[in-house]
Amino acid sequence: MQLVKLAPHIYYTEPEQKTDRPVLGYILGDKRAVMVDAGNSKAHYEAYQNLLEKHQLQIPEMCIITHWHWDHTFGIHALKQKSFAHVNTNRRLKEMSLWEWSDAAMKDRLRLGIDIPFADTCMRAEYEDVTSIQVMPASQEIQNEMSIDCGGITCQCLHLPSAHSDDSIVVYVPEEKILFIGDIYGDDLYQKGKRDLGKTQELYLALTELDFEIAVPGHSEPLSKERLLDFLWQFISDE
Ligand SMILES: [Zn+2]
Repeated sequence: MQLVKLAPHIYYTEPEQKTDRPVLGYILGDKRAVMVDAGNSKAHYEAYQNLLEKHQLQIPEMCIITHWHWDHTFGIHALKQKSFAHVNTNRRLKEMSLWEWSDAAMKDRLRLGIDIPFADTCMRAEYEDVTSIQVMPASQEIQNEMSIDCGGITCQCLHLPSAHSDDSIVVYVPEEKILFIGDIYGDDLYQKGKRDLGKTQELYLALTELDFEIAVPGHSEPLSKERLLDFLWQFISDE
């Protein structure tokens, strides 16, 4: 895992496919730093912390969660900082915090269609011992939006429509024209990859109105606003 400097105040750690570790963002102002997403495990979060230490970057004061999916949230229990998530994200995390984590319980959830094979496979790749999985909600909830003054740099946390997950938050840094988007442009993996075209269109319109140049997705390289909009447009152009 590498730490990439994208702009003077913006960094991120690269995603890892095998264990489905997503991008973890880092936004640095004069007053404080902010982390985007908590990682898929304590080990993932600690790898992020170690990279910050190696590059002599200050520890973030808070962590913003983009959506409830395990790979973005199962590191929450290890966080030393406050975490912020949309109310619907926390609702899902509270549900999952009651789940039992064992080989048998995971197999049962697959059989009942409560969890999906992709998540199950990646969790087993990330965790040598699945009984060590701990799920916790974020410490604070975002109703709709929230703005964080980092000192010369602002993090605007906005709840936008998404076909991937209805609790999605993006982190917009207007001074750098950069937007952390999590998996917001994806389809719904938990509904067999179904894509809600109404929500895709609403997202397209919301993104059109935001003044950013680069989007940082959860599982691939940053891309231009134009490429992101083109990607969404292919689904809605003949509606
Ligand atoms: Zn996701």
